[in-house]
Amino acid sequence: MKASQKNVHKRIQKWYKAHGRVDLPWRTTENAYHIYLSEVMLQQTQVKTVLERYYFPFLKKFPTLQALGEAPLDDVLKMWEGLGYYNRAKNLHKTAMILTQEGQTLGSAPTLPSEIETLMALPGIGKNTAHAVATFAFKKPVPIMEANVKRILCRLKQLKTPTDKALWEIAYDLVDKKNPFDYNQAMMDIGSSICTPKNPQCEICPLSSICQGKKEPTRYPTKKKRVVPTREQNIMLYVYNDKLSLTQRTGKFLHGLWGFEKIDIPLCAAEYIGEVTHAYTHFKLICKVYLYDELDPEQNSYFTTQEIRKLAISKVDEKIVKLYLDTIPTY
Ligand code: SF4
Repeated sequence: MKASQKNVHKRIQKWYKAHGRVDLPWRTTENAYHIYLSEVMLQQTQVKTVLERYYFPFLKKFPTLQALGEAPLDDVLKMWEGLGYYNRAKNLHKTAMILTQEGQTLGSAPTLPSEIETLMALPGIGKNTAHAVATFAFKKPVPIMEANVKRILCRLKQLKTPTDKALWEIAYDLVDKKNPFDYNQAMMDIGSSICTPKNPQCEICPLSSICQGKKEPTRYPTKKKRVVPTREQNIMLYVYNDKLSLTQRTGKFLHGLWGFEKIDIPLCAAEYIGEVTHAYTHFKLICKVYLYDELDPEQNSYFTTQEIRKLAISKVDEKIVKLYLDTIPTY
């Protein structure tokens, strides 16, 4: 290893001890399941939200991989409610079920594998999650590759539009094999607090001595312009005896969650009560909501708004319930 790189590792380790978020609960545990759970929750969600609202209640309800593997999917989705990207919860559950079954066959408690290839064979575990679990739970000398780390690597090497392959090569070359745990945690923290998208603070950065892009850091990487398409849906709220009809979704989108009926053309007698919008990563959804005060002949799942709170429903359906409740007094 080059002397410059060794010095950078020392500076990163020193910085992490002084400024890193060393007390995050998934950084102070050796429990691989807890670390894996945090990685999945943090994939699309901010640390603050995961920490304040989801991580601890989820572990209270499912304290072990086995408890999660033996739980019904509905219970898992309920604990995930509001976090979005429900495929994460379903894959987490599937993985727990697979490992629990394996454990039963072997007569031992289920455990996560430590090898990257084996981890990646499990549902929902991609290359970065596998690397994160391997290094954080099993102290493997491998790098991680989340958005903050990518940005640092691009700036270090002045890369505007790098391929994943190139980034992984740089990451493997740079990783501190002596203390990969602190190094990888530090890289994420440096990316989120120093090497930020705007106004990076290169003068206090522990990687500054080897950074080729520090003169004009915001040139790297090139920002991709995203055009988010809009989708429209008509939603029919059947109301009967002050109860609303919901069905459990079976399609790919929001599978397993309860939701209101989507229809192509609203019934003539239905009353339009407003619209709700929700931004997903790849599109914006606009739901035009209609109320129909009749029993749906094809439906027998009617719930009061109190009962709906106990079901696992999506954010957009929560907004529809709110719109309904706001509408009732004038209806
Ligand atoms: S020196 Fe500046 S651009 Fe380079 S990694 Fe540090 S903060 Fe980012």
